[in-house]
Amino acid sequence: MKRIYFTVGPSEIYPTIPMHLRDAIKNHIPSLNHRGSEFKKLFKETTDNLRNLLSIPNTHEILFVSSALESMERTIQSVVKDHSFHLISGSFGKSWMNIASQLGKKTEQALYPGKLTKISTAAELICITQNDTSSGIQIPMEEIYQFKDKYPKKLIAIDVVSSVPYIKIDFSKIDITFFSVQKGFGLPAGLGIIIVSPAAIEKAKKMQKQLSIGSYHSFISLAEKAAEYQTPETPNVLNIFLLNKVLRDFLDSGIENIRNDIEEKAELLYRFFETNNFQPAIEDKNIRSLTTLVLNTQGKTSEIKKSLLKKGFDIGSGYGDFKESQMRIANFPAHTLKNVKALLKAFNNK
Ligand SMILES: *Cc1c(COP(=O)(O)O)cnc(C)c1O
Repeated sequence: MKRIYFTVGPSEIYPTIPMHLRDAIKNHIPSLNHRGSEFKKLFKETTDNLRNLLSIPNTHEILFVSSALESMERTIQSVVKDHSFHLISGSFGKSWMNIASQLGKKTEQALYPGKLTKISTAAELICITQNDTSSGIQIPMEEIYQFKDKYPKKLIAIDVVSSVPYIKIDFSKIDITFFSVQKGFGLPAGLGIIIVSPAAIEKAKKMQKQLSIGSYHSFISLAEKAAEYQTPETPNVLNIFLLNKVLRDFLDSGIENIRNDIEEKAELLYRFFETNNFQPAIEDKNIRSLTTLVLNTQGKTSEIKKSLLKKGFDIGSGYGDFKESQMRIANFPAHTLKNVKALLKAFNNK
């Protein structure tokens, strides 16, 4: 039976993926030598297309890793000598801080939304989960840029796993940006991307002289290989191939059209839920995510999920303690307006 995934990640695959997978097999992509010229060409094309789509300046490195959690760890390892600061708006932000603690760093936190008076002088990196998929809070980029204005000497890292490619980023104000591809890009899981500024690379180089910043996946090792359009290990070539294809599809659609579609669908979804007694968990519209909606269900999550599943729609439960009192619904580029309307119709006929 047909099933459409409105889960927040992994989620529905982008509609062109089946075609691109067939293409991959036809072109022997899983057997491609990762040191050969065909792979180098694929690496270059993929990073060029990503630069194009997200307006990433040539000064910034694009590095391939395996996941967003790995990106959190590599970021801390590569640029934090002693002390990191974490702005926490949900569970993913907490996980990032835990990773820093587990790597032996001193951590400092502030809750978002909330009053933040000062970040200590010792903090070298400011870690921000721009869109926390657990809570449905999205932090406006303007607020994030203010950190750079206020603390120009500190590095800033953002997790945009569940807001990319919707979120617009001014990379001149962000040092490290990372995401994995199984959410907004509608791809299979198992590939992470880290975008790194020259200042962050410089910090990693300096640190490397004093302590271990990790081995094959340190920013330095990744950047050295990226300069030759390669990765240190045998990478997820199939997923890089699919990413390149989907990037081309996004470029063909036009990023502004993709962003407008997300806004249109978000408005439709929120309006429906608000008038049908499923209140958004985040009351403040300025910080409410447009890509990962979290809604209150008055304890009826499993009942709702079960009845929707019978109609071919999979939605997400609440996160952690909110498993039964909230539901989470993704609004990514893979979710067509037609499918969003079909989901809402299924809600009406529950
Ligand atoms: C899903 C998610 C992650 C973890 O991604 P993985 O690719 O599973 O490591 C991290 N941060 C946010 C905001 C997420 O939504």
